Amino acid sequence: MSLKADLHMHTTFSDGMLSPYELVKKCKQSGLSIIAITDHDSVGAFPDAVEYGKEFGVEVIAGVELSAMVEEKDVHILGYFLDYTNKHLLEYLEFFRIERVKRAQRIVAKLNSINVPLKIESVMERAGHGSVGRPHIASAMVDHGYIHSYQEAFEKFIGSGGPAYEKKFNLSPVEAIKLISSSGGLSFLAHPGRYTSDEVLNILIKSGLDGIEVTHPSHSSVHTNHYRGVVSEYFLLESGGSDFHGGRKNDDILGSYYVDEAKVNMMKHRLFSTNNSR
Ligand code: AMP
Ligand code: ZN
Ligand code: FE
Ligand code: FE
Repeated sequence: MSLKADLHMHTTFSDGMLSPYELVKKCKQSGLSIIAITDHDSVGAFPDAVEYGKEFGVEVIAGVELSAMVEEKDVHILGYFLDYTNKHLLEYLEFFRIERVKRAQRIVAKLNSINVPLKIESVMERAGHGSVGRPHIASAMVDHGYIHSYQEAFEKFIGSGGPAYEKKFNLSPVEAIKLISSSGGLSFLAHPGRYTSDEVLNILIKSGLDGIEVTHPSHSSVHTNHYRGVVSEYFLLESGGSDFHGGRKNDDILGSYYVDEAKVNMMKHRLFSTNNSR
């Protein structure tokens, strides 16, 4: 039987509920042999997560999930096999995290103006050392009883187009892809089924995207088949994973969304040949 690789998951370094140690341990228990930790705008889980991986017998790939904007839409780009010590990368990620704090402040100001008295301190407390995001805002709103559920926060207030929605820093996908490749990594379009038109996908492929996340909990079999077709048509790489955050409603999905080891080997071959041709 080939080994299972889950290449999309979050820790407390962004909006995940488990620490890198707890996550790696849970991955081992869930039958995963290879994982990529892909926190939003942070590589804070490394190098420790790689060491925990050695302890538990799980190969840990250094990843990240960046947010870019295309035609007013938020598009997520996953980076894998990063040099997490790259100064340029670390400076950019720190900048993105500072922009996230400013955005959280703007969202809180909007909420306050519509009579939701949430304080930025409660949000930052929820985020702890992690990159602050809307999940922390939603959780803080539930903590204080301003809404009944996490989901309601997105539906009524902070979801795209909601009264307290605020856009992120305007990074283009080309810039995101370049940042990942200049840090030695490969870039993948995350969960394209959620939002990405084929037109946008074509722009990304022309911008140097290395692959597509074909397997994701939000994808139907129609999505999976469609994106697998795109991957083979454009000689791209295929990725997949659970987008595990822990806690919340998706606690049992580890081990259910994965690609086999052969897909990871293809990524390594691609990396090896690009690095030798640079
Ligand atoms: P942010 O990075 O601050 O824009 O937050 C994005 C994260 O919020 C995503 O990774 C999801 O975990 C979560 N999220 C975004 N939209 C929704 C939604 N409509 N319902 C529930 N969670 C959402
Ligand atoms: Zn997330
Ligand atoms: Fe995402
Ligand atoms: Fe994610």
